[in-house]
Amino acid sequence: MTTTKFDYDLFVIGGGSGGVRAARISAGHGARVGLCEESRLGGTCVIRGCVPKKLLVFASQFSEAFEDAAGYGWSVGETSFSWTDMVAAKEREITRLEAVYGRLLANAGVEVHPGRGTLVDEHTVLVGERRITAEKILIAVGGRPYRLDIPGAELGIVSDDAFDLPEYPQRVLVVGGGYIAVEFAGIFRGLGSQVTLNYRRERILRSFDGDVRRVVEAGMLSRGIEFRYNNLPTRITETPDGKRRVDFSDGASGEFDIVLFATGRHPYTGGLGLENAGVATGPKGLVAVDEYSRTSVQSIFAVGDVTDRIALTPVALMEGHAFADTQFGGIDRPVDHANVPAAVFSQPPSSSVGLTEEEARNQCDSVRVFRSEFTPMKYTLSGRDEKALMKILVDGATDRVIGLHVVGPEAAEMVQGFAVAVRAGLTKTDFDRTIGIHPTSAEELVTMREAVA
Ligand code: NDP
Repeated sequence: MTTTKFDYDLFVIGGGSGGVRAARISAGHGARVGLCEESRLGGTCVIRGCVPKKLLVFASQFSEAFEDAAGYGWSVGETSFSWTDMVAAKEREITRLEAVYGRLLANAGVEVHPGRGTLVDEHTVLVGERRITAEKILIAVGGRPYRLDIPGAELGIVSDDAFDLPEYPQRVLVVGGGYIAVEFAGIFRGLGSQVTLNYRRERILRSFDGDVRRVVEAGMLSRGIEFRYNNLPTRITETPDGKRRVDFSDGASGEFDIVLFATGRHPYTGGLGLENAGVATGPKGLVAVDEYSRTSVQSIFAVGDVTDRIALTPVALMEGHAFADTQFGGIDRPVDHANVPAAVFSQPPSSSVGLTEEEARNQCDSVRVFRSEFTPMKYTLSGRDEKALMKILVDGATDRVIGLHVVGPEAAEMVQGFAVAVRAGLTKTDFDRTIGIHPTSAEELVTMREAVA
């Protein structure tokens, strides 16, 4: 397999989840591998995404825990939160993980070249002044947050900035209705800010199951998040005291400490030199790939958020691993994006695997819907007015469970386990045969007997 004509068998552009996984598995298969990263090893997920976000979610949930404790006989004294301490603690953990990534690569024998890589041709990457050649090149550069194109957009921030704000904001405007918008709305609200979520349509989480959207929205409303729907900012200006004044499309205006654009992410391909090598892109500049992560150029591959697939860390890991196994391990591994489970770490959290009810009804002749909405046991004594949702969609023709949705505490932990069952194609009868664990919320998923539709 080793090629002497090139500096490396594989050169990876981007040291995030997908790139690092592909690099070290390829090296494990015996390939000579180099990798470049212009920022910090770990990429979006570790440095400015999933990991610090989840740490902030944990931080923000303590306010709710303090409130709920009263119903259990506790009296919690005065509490206070230090944003500076939290940011410092988060930074220590990110730095630790960054070092772990470095060690993983070093131990695998991957050579890391700090700097941004630019494609020169189909076998050459320029990193700084150095031209590096490789038989195969993997593009794993991820995405970058996108801001609305309105006057004053530069006065807003994006999620990358939200983790290291110099001062904690009291009034927050979040623009967008997807993952990042609802997650950050919950974080800032839990940490004590007044939060307004501004979305261009009528309800958050557009592509999610209708019941999930309704129950998550209700939980966010009950926590005091204000929604401004069917509305968009049209202009941001800075006030004399450094606040952000926002004009909205409905003619209203408001003042906020920060405006967070959570309006999607676009592939980070500007200046990457895709055109030098002839790599084809699709809508929004996403790199077009096939099931082996092959681009339009034979020697160039792409994985993760830069491709036109599912922008989730575990998916990028799977794509990177499958690429390495296929190209260097002698194992034929096309990627498989069926039944990818996902979670939104909103408050309340939601998690799903398989089809939404809307998708199921489009794809199947008959669908049986099992749904339970109930007050989680923990909230009975705390008096919190909030419902959890458990929902199962069953294909009427085959009895297979084709969609499963949970909103409520530990939703993601539950769905990760049930995703195995959905992925394995188990039937509602299999679910019914499974004994529940009592008392849990998850037992609802194996005890719902009456279809509601
Ligand atoms: P999403 O695609 O989830 O949401 C983007 C939001 O911005 C949507 O509500 C969209 O509206 C809105 N929007 C997009 N363009 C415009 C525009 N021009 N004007 C007004 N509104 C606009 O992206 P995020 O940025 O929230 O997250 C990026 C990706 O990162 C996610 O898709 C997800 O794959 C991943 N992610 C995963 C997380 C997890 O697994 N928990 C957490 C965070 C991110 P509309 O609905 O109308 O299109």
